[in-house]
Amino acid sequence: MALAALIVAAGRGARARAAGDTPKQYAELAGRSVLAHAIAPLASHPAIAAIKVVIHPDDAARYSGAVGDLAGSLLEPVAGGATRQASVLAGLESLAQGQPPEAVLIHDAARPFLSRAEVDRLLAALTVHEGAILAVPVADTLKRASGDGTIAATVDRTGLWRAQTPQAFRFAPILAAHRRAANQSAAAFTDDASIAEWAGMTITIVEGSARNTKITTAEDLTMAAHLFATGGLETRTGTGFDVHRFAPGDHVWLCGVRVPHNERLEGHSDADVGLHALTDALLGALGDGDIGQHFPPTDARWKGAPSRLFLVDAAKRVAARGGRIINVDVTLLCEAPRIGPHRDAMRATIASLLGVSADRVGVKATTTEGLGFVGRREGIAAMATANVLLPG
Ligand code: MG
Repeated sequence: MALAALIVAAGRGARARAAGDTPKQYAELAGRSVLAHAIAPLASHPAIAAIKVVIHPDDAARYSGAVGDLAGSLLEPVAGGATRQASVLAGLESLAQGQPPEAVLIHDAARPFLSRAEVDRLLAALTVHEGAILAVPVADTLKRASGDGTIAATVDRTGLWRAQTPQAFRFAPILAAHRRAANQSAAAFTDDASIAEWAGMTITIVEGSARNTKITTAEDLTMAAHLFATGGLETRTGTGFDVHRFAPGDHVWLCGVRVPHNERLEGHSDADVGLHALTDALLGALGDGDIGQHFPPTDARWKGAPSRLFLVDAAKRVAARGGRIINVDVTLLCEAPRIGPHRDAMRATIASLLGVSADRVGVKATTTEGLGFVGRREGIAAMATANVLLPG
């Protein structure tokens, strides 16, 4: 089933302006925007072929900054309307141009805690039903208040659910329902399932998670930041090790920097032993194979390739999993060349390739006191460690 995702980010969020006049979906949470957190689990899902974001017409610049390196996974954004309902319709109409998808997941930009498992459960339900939404049973006792703030009644909570997003629908009927609602109904619908219900579609409930909360107020944002800092993400550590031997030449590549030397390092690529160890450390933190698996030396494409390509690929794999690099550390083992004069250039190069600040990058060097293959100046070894935050 050709599946698209529509992210609704057009609201102004006046109730939860993080700083100045930043709407909540553009607020920063654990190093990336709330919007990017909302997109990431959909962007990395293999069944979702296209993602479009509905934005406020004034937010084009904010949007570009907020999606960052996810931009490559997204269709052009579309401008929303005056209400959420109008914004969703604008997004659906935009997806309907050309080859429309068979189904669509509609998701709030202000929900940064969606999990892959929840998306999978929704998609499974959509193979049976016209529509499916994530929802959680109401656990609190519900009171109806009088105008004076006293309790008028206790509401029976049996069978009551709190609707979340994503809400998933077969595309043609939800588009038809939205078009009809825009023309025929004066009701203010607050989610897409209520429009589907109004149009007579059968929508099933898929049990979601209380974690998939919507950030509405400044307090929600503070709590979400706390969740990310404590239980929202887990720390992963990976290690890497690599060796390349010397051969006749006049320079070596080390940690992305060309260092003049009376020999070169032999290898299929540019033989940058530091970047190879670091790439493996990042892949190790993800549990995602190793550099030889992703860039086999038998593949002619990587002959003489700059090793920065490998490191950037590993960093993209971290981002695709919704993760973030905390810090990396490389140790080069060699008698020569001297690393000290190049250390800051190496740190700056790695920092820029990984999209982190240079204070999150360590580069160190040591000799082996003349012992072993390094001591005999037969080659250079490198070891690396990477710490990565990943959604738990
Ligand atoms: Mg290597």
